[in-house]
Amino acid sequence: MKFGGTSVSNIERICHVADLVEEVAREGHEVVVVVSAMAGDTDRLIRLAHEITPDPPEREIDMLLSSGERITSALLAMALTARGRTSRSFSGRQVGIHTDSTHTKARIEHIESGRLLSALSAGVIPVVAGFQGISPNEDVTTLGRGGSDTTAVALAVALSADRCDIYTDVTGVFTADPNMVPRARKLERISYEEMLEMAALGAKVLHSRSVEFAMRYRMPLRVLSTFSKDPGTLVTEEDKKMEQMVVSGVTLDRNQAQVIVCDVPDRPGLAASLFRDLSDNAVIVDMIVQNVGQDHLTDISFTVPRSEARKTIRIAREVAQRIGAGEVRSREDISKISIVGVGMRSHSGVAARMFETLASEGINILMISTSEIKISCLIDEKYGELAARVVHQTFGLDRADSGEPVRG
Ligand code: ADP
Ligand code: MG
Repeated sequence: MKFGGTSVSNIERICHVADLVEEVAREGHEVVVVVSAMAGDTDRLIRLAHEITPDPPEREIDMLLSSGERITSALLAMALTARGRTSRSFSGRQVGIHTDSTHTKARIEHIESGRLLSALSAGVIPVVAGFQGISPNEDVTTLGRGGSDTTAVALAVALSADRCDIYTDVTGVFTADPNMVPRARKLERISYEEMLEMAALGAKVLHSRSVEFAMRYRMPLRVLSTFSKDPGTLVTEEDKKMEQMVVSGVTLDRNQAQVIVCDVPDRPGLAASLFRDLSDNAVIVDMIVQNVGQDHLTDISFTVPRSEARKTIRIAREVAQRIGAGEVRSREDISKISIVGVGMRSHSGVAARMFETLASEGINILMISTSEIKISCLIDEKYGELAARVVHQTFGLDRADSGEPVRG
């Protein structure tokens, strides 16, 4: 059972979470709990760091941020103990979560599950601080925003759990962010593949690495609300019914920046050297477009996470100078709207409908990228929410009634 930041944002809620855990333990289940930091705490810590320096060392950021989850894990273990249960809190290191050494966005490499297994067999309810691990040289690392989901799924896999339940502040996975598209509908089931695309494309309800783990190891994943009895959404294998829906979800990613390298000489290997340097600096590039060249010169534009924009521009300028390209420009006032659905494999005209819908609202498309089950368009940031709502409606995802409340 994993509980997100809103679910543990104050003592009253931590006690409510303790009640939920107790209920499941009383049914006879062995349970491992994973918690996030209290909502807002991570941001508060980041602000403190930036009051000291605009560019804090990432190792220290990880040391700082990992404290938030340790606080909630200890408080929840106390609440369970106060209810007469034997419970103990653990840091990522204490439960053997080994990661690579990429500070602030480390990847879990392996888990030594011995300590958790012996706690379970001694009747202890372990409460694990999410979002963190330990690097090969024993420094604390964190897994990136939303990383506690990944802690939970990775532990579920390592312990051969029957299921991993992600408790959050909405009743499940919706056809779009219900806080942005009021007419979004809750999905009863969604395939791993679609969920992975949606998470990677900006639906922050699940950390995309957590879905990757669940998909690879076929771990059934349930998303449900801490504050209601709704059965939530099951993330699971694809079935026939899912294919009948052309589009299952719409996402908006407001976290992108576009970088344009102008006047790149039209010679083999130049794009390679640009993207090699970016990848050597751990910059994850998303969309890439290379325009048709004139006078043996071409523009290469691509998108990166906004938090990487400054670093990316610096690297791109170095490369541009080395290869004799022109200026490097960037834009941050952009968003990426995407539609996702396994049904796209067997339906045609989906892209045309999406482009027509955007055109009918006068929304210009800056870049396009597609895969077998998704279509993404880069647009002006100011049209993001409008685009999400009209595209959601075009593909028949709106619910007819004003419906049940989203928040439990
Ligand atoms: P937690 O702190 O529990 O991890 P998050 O804030 O990370 O919670 O994720 C839950 C939020 O995800 C919801 O409040 C909702 O606004 C957002 N969200 C974005 N896309 C979706 C979606 N398709 N379905 C449900 N929630 C979504
Ligand atoms: Mg989250």
